[in-house]
Amino acid sequence: MNEYIVRTNSTEETLQFSKELAQKLQPGDVITLEGDLGAGKTTFTKGLAVGLDINKNVSSPTFTIIKEYNGRLPLYHMDVYRLEDSDEDLGFDEYFEGQGVTVVEWAHLIEDQLPEELLQIKISHGEENSRNLTITPKGKRYEMLCKELFA
Ligand code: ATP
Ligand code: MG
Repeated sequence: MNEYIVRTNSTEETLQFSKELAQKLQPGDVITLEGDLGAGKTTFTKGLAVGLDINKNVSSPTFTIIKEYNGRLPLYHMDVYRLEDSDEDLGFDEYFEGQGVTVVEWAHLIEDQLPEELLQIKISHGEENSRNLTITPKGKRYEMLCKELFA
């Protein structure tokens, strides 16, 4: 399986990378974000929002589970960390199959409800402000996207 590793050395570098990724996104794309508390999942999402021409500040949707923003494409930002029951179906499919881009923080908690094809991004802490982003495309669409992005 293909896997790409991006190392960022600051918050700004992570924002810059996700902003670039956003340029390649299409309606219906799904990105899952994994990583410990404070790894940078929401930071990554903020960069995506900037790249999608969303001029609202993206904040953590922890208490609402899903927040929606309007830009070049709609952005559906989910954080399922506090979902009480991971089998609970909040109609996720409608987002995954919708006309926007869906980003899911703590996606493994709803593993069974995720689509088969998605772009998986795992963020791990390095020293101080460095982070390793391990990017795994699942499915043809995302393999193509990564090929373009990392060409
Ligand atoms: P949570 O699990 O609580 O939702 P999170 O993974 O969403 O956490 P963020 O809310 O994005 O994490 O917080 C990451 C913090 O780490 C921010 O304060 C950010 O500025 C800082 N940071 C430092 N270096 C980096 C980096 N290279 N990439 C991303 N964030 C970084
Ligand atoms: Mg977060």
